[in-house]
Amino acid sequence: MPAPLIKPLLIDRFGRTVDYVRISITDRCDFRCVYCMSEEMTFLPREQILSLEEIFLLAQCFTELGVGKIRITGGEPLIRRGALELLHNIGHLPLLDELVMTTNGSQLSNCAEQLKLAQVSRLNISLDTLKADKFKQLTRTGDLAVVLKGIESAIKTGFKRIKLNAVILKNRNDNEVVDLVNFALNSGIDISFIEEMPLGVISSHDRAEAYYSSDEIKADLDAYFKLEKIQETTAGPSDYYRVSGTDTKVGFISPHSHNFCSTCNRVRLTVEGRLLLCLGNEHSIDLKSVMRNSENNTDLIKQAIIESMMIKPEKHEFNLKEQPLIMRHMSSTGG
Ligand code: SAM
Ligand code: SF4
Repeated sequence: MPAPLIKPLLIDRFGRTVDYVRISITDRCDFRCVYCMSEEMTFLPREQILSLEEIFLLAQCFTELGVGKIRITGGEPLIRRGALELLHNIGHLPLLDELVMTTNGSQLSNCAEQLKLAQVSRLNISLDTLKADKFKQLTRTGDLAVVLKGIESAIKTGFKRIKLNAVILKNRNDNEVVDLVNFALNSGIDISFIEEMPLGVISSHDRAEAYYSSDEIKADLDAYFKLEKIQETTAGPSDYYRVSGTDTKVGFISPHSHNFCSTCNRVRLTVEGRLLLCLGNEHSIDLKSVMRNSENNTDLIKQAIIESMMIKPEKHEFNLKEQPLIMRHMSSTGG
C-alpha cells in the first residue's frame, strides 16, 4: 500500500499555519476607487512584474508546501491579458483544494462561464453602492449597470458561493447598508462589510473622518434584520452572521475595531514577486529575485518561502489619524 501523502506545512513563530495565499496578478485596474487608489496612479513597468509563467510556478510551489487555497486578486485580475488561462492552470494544480477570486465585476458578464471551467469555485465581487451616480463617484471610472450585469451572469453560472464586498465610508455610503443586504438577500448571495484600511496615500478624503465601524453597521442592520451569529471554523478575518430564515451570510471585516491577527493563516504575493507576510506591515521577501537568480530552482524557492515564516509579524497596527505607515495601495498589495 502506498504511504499516505503528508503535506508539509508552513508554520510561523507564533504557531500559525499558513495554508492560504492571495496572489495579485496585476497592479492595474479599470476603476480608481477612492479608498484604494489616488486619481493619478503610476503603474509598474512590464519588466518589473512577474510573468504569467512565473506566477504559475510560484503557485505550484505554494501548493507543494501545503497551501490549499489560492485567491487571485489585483488590481483588477480580469484585465490582465492571459488571466483566464493562468486561472485555468492554477485551478488544475493537483494539490490545490480551492481556487477563488476577488473582482470588481466589470468583466464578469463576458467570462463567468470560463471562470467556472477554470475551477474558480467562489467569487468575491466588490459593490459599495446601488446608486449609479454614487458608484461613479466612488469608483471614479466604473459603471454600475455593467457590474450589476456581471453579478447577474455570475449568479446564473452557478458558483459554489458569491460574496459581495462593501467598503463603507461615513457620509458617503453608510446609509446604504440595509439596501446592500437586501440586494444580497434577493440575489441569494452573501455580503461582507469592510472597514477602510490606511493603505497608501489617497487624495479624496480623510480616512479618519470617513471611518464607519463594523459595530455601527451592525447596529444599523439590527434595526431591520434578525442576524444570528455563526461560529465559523475557518481562520478568516470575518465575523459572520446569518440573516435569520435565509442562506445569506453577513460578514464584518474589522481591522480597526476587532483585531483578527491571532488566527491569521495567509500571506500575499504582489505582482512584483514580493511575498508580504502581513497586510499591515512591510515584512516581506523578494521571491522574484530568488526565482530569477536561480533559474527557477523550485527547491530554493520553496526554501525561501519556508524561511519567510520566521519574519511573519504577530499583528498589524493601523492608525487612521497618522500618515499611513504602509505606502503601498491595496491594489498593489493584493487585497
Ligand atoms: N479589483 C478587485 C476588487 O475591487 O474586488 C480586487 C482587488 S481590490 C484591492 C480587493 C478588495 O480590497 C476590494 O473588495 C476592495 O473594496 C478592498 N479595498 C481596497 N482598498 C481598500 C482599503 N483601503 N481598505 C479596505 N478595503 C479596501
Ligand atoms: Fe480597482 Fe479593486 Fe482598487 Fe477598486 S478596489 S481601484 S476595483 S483594485
